[in-house]
Amino acid sequence: MRRKLVVGNWKMNGSSAANAALLAELLAARAAWNCDAAVCAPFPYLAQVGELLAGSAIAWGAQDCSAHESGAYTGEVAATMLDEFGCRYVIVGHSERRALHFEADQVVADKAKVALAHRLTPIVCVGETLAQREAGETASVVKRQLSAVIHTLAHCISQVVVAYEPVWAIGTGRTASPEQAQDVHSLLRTQLRAASEKADGMQILYGGSVKADNAAALFAQPDIDGGLIGGASLKAAEFAAICRAAS
Ligand code: PEP
Repeated sequence: MRRKLVVGNWKMNGSSAANAALLAELLAARAAWNCDAAVCAPFPYLAQVGELLAGSAIAWGAQDCSAHESGAYTGEVAATMLDEFGCRYVIVGHSERRALHFEADQVVADKAKVALAHRLTPIVCVGETLAQREAGETASVVKRQLSAVIHTLAHCISQVVVAYEPVWAIGTGRTASPEQAQDVHSLLRTQLRAASEKADGMQILYGGSVKADNAAALFAQPDIDGGLIGGASLKAAEFAAICRAAS
């Protein structure tokens, strides 16, 4: 039985005061859920988040890392630095980074590799655009994206968390139906099984307009092991309710 995981992706939101208030509410609500939970904060707030969550059952992480170890990469943040700030997770290959920062499949795979080398669990995002779905390309797109990571990590692939995030569902209020999501999750699990005998123990999260009122139906699907939550992770009551739905 896989344990469910719910991860908040705060994106470029927050302030010291807002983060403190949000985390205080989450810590107060924590006793009511029984799944793994984490928040991925903007880089400047990792120290604050680490301090406020230290010793709690809520883990924290970042939203990206460099594919390089260190050096002349102005503006980038190394996986070693995230490790130093106690991060457990790092999101790589989010569709916003793929689209706005032109991150190719191999760059995403390299980021996952460097993250793993520094004790971080990469949350590798894959997902198709609306045009790709309508052209019947969903399976080939997500398989291609995951394949780059599988080839780069080889037997270490079982150490990553995969997140299926259809681009057309992110921040749009339009969620994949539980059946649509399960179809893709099942396909990803099959691909992972061909690469690792530990695939059945791997967590595959769904992300894309998950809210308190649709989470339970999504999480009831056999291959959906939790969620990557954007907008709803900024509201403590909503995020806590999603965590309860995963419990
Ligand atoms: C995300 O950005 O990873 C995401 C799933 O966003 P939202 O929940 O707002 O659709």
